[in-house]
Amino acid sequence: MTEDIRVRYAPSPTGHLHIGNARTAIFNWLFARHYNGQFIIRIEDTDSARNIADGEKSQLENLAWLGLDWDESPENPGAYGPYRQSERNAQGIYQPFIDELLAKGLAYKSYKTSEQLAAEREAQQAAKQAPHYVYEYEGLTDEEREAKYAEFEAQGLKPVIRFRVPEEKVYAWDDIVKGHIEIGAKEIGGDWVIQKADGMPTYNFAVVVDDHLMKISHVLRGDDHVSNTPKQMMIFEALGWDVPKFGHMALIINGETGKKLSKRDENVLQFVEQYKDLGYQPQAMVNFIGLLGWSPKGEDEIFSLEEFTQMFDENRLSKANAKFDQKKLEWINNQWMRRDLDQVMPQLIQELVNADLISAEDAETKRDWLTQVIKVAGVEGISYTREIVDLVRRPFFELSDITDEMVDYLTSDEGRQVFAAWEKAYTALPESATAEDYMAAIREIQSTLEIKGRNLWNPIRIATTHEVQGPNLPEMLVVLEKDKVLATMADVKAKYLA
Ligand code: GLU
Repeated sequence: MTEDIRVRYAPSPTGHLHIGNARTAIFNWLFARHYNGQFIIRIEDTDSARNIADGEKSQLENLAWLGLDWDESPENPGAYGPYRQSERNAQGIYQPFIDELLAKGLAYKSYKTSEQLAAEREAQQAAKQAPHYVYEYEGLTDEEREAKYAEFEAQGLKPVIRFRVPEEKVYAWDDIVKGHIEIGAKEIGGDWVIQKADGMPTYNFAVVVDDHLMKISHVLRGDDHVSNTPKQMMIFEALGWDVPKFGHMALIINGETGKKLSKRDENVLQFVEQYKDLGYQPQAMVNFIGLLGWSPKGEDEIFSLEEFTQMFDENRLSKANAKFDQKKLEWINNQWMRRDLDQVMPQLIQELVNADLISAEDAETKRDWLTQVIKVAGVEGISYTREIVDLVRRPFFELSDITDEMVDYLTSDEGRQVFAAWEKAYTALPESATAEDYMAAIREIQSTLEIKGRNLWNPIRIATTHEVQGPNLPEMLVVLEKDKVLATMADVKAKYLA
């Protein structure tokens, strides 16, 4: 590509960073970085009623956490600021273009009240017509229309500005993802509002002015914006501007239900922050999201942001719906954790502190021991760091209750013999004993007593850990603190074997 690539991510600060928005941001970023272009962040905050406190901050923090950076934004403005639409509006950036369209007769002032609009819609519904705005100045000359304006103003009504849709036209573009698309102007529901009564431009208008003034070359966004594109093309055309290239990325669907992923779908975590809180790795999130609606050549599935940047090819954006498969995300995260467990270790230890299994101070002084505990407990199998808490809780920090089944193992004839032999062997072994030493001791008991399998292993495991299953026992014994194990054994003996 030879032209200057400038793309943007333009969130409305109405919520936290959703997986779908994160995907839009990531692909625009990849597009920019792959072609040495620029990636811009613009905040589309014109719908002030829907904005939430810290919406912008949290979106940007989450993007940064994913590893993205940006060339221009509200915090690092470039030559095309400001980068918040509310500020652009306050500076009067949109007004001249509204005035231009009014002057050219391509837009008009509309004073219909919400009651009138509702009544029109009802009548259309009753007549089984698609909802469609009815132009109120049909057949009037410019002067007559101006006279109407004055009449409405005298009644104290405030206008919105509507764009006069050229109904006979068909808007067509070659979508980067979906190929050739044509939408008839008739399908969009008639003249639409470009400026609200409070003077704020609407999304479909402001986005055009901004994309033009900010020299945006390509617009990659979600499938849900396809129907906005003809509206935006009308404005580009009316103002005599070049239209950027559009690409509408495949819908993300819930892998289990096959339905569009919806924010109301409470069974699926959909906000980047939620995954961050559970201890997902940012690289894994980027890896997973980067495969939603895009696929590389070959079978590999583990990629870093750098690898994606190198491989990026807009022609491999897929038309087919992208399945949001949480199991796959878990798998990818597991792969990333395994890649560099030592790097994840501080985060894993922090989880134990957060869960009150250990004090922050002990977490510092017992770091090596905690690292061993985490490894022996089977950290390689977990999907995200928060899971470490339940993995190590027992028996490293708490003991389970002894069940009736456990009592049976302990108090059987064989159980008693094994317990006695194990108590002796364990007590005799030094604190520095290795997993091999413990294994040898257990084998020794096996050959002396001629007891094997569960009847051998269970009494030992129960006596030392209150469990009948778990990680490799000799390895666990290396990390379990000897005085605690001795106390546990003494307790078991007193309660069940006295
Ligand atoms: N503010 C719009 C959104 O959040 C941006 C759409 C666009 O990229 O044009 O969906």
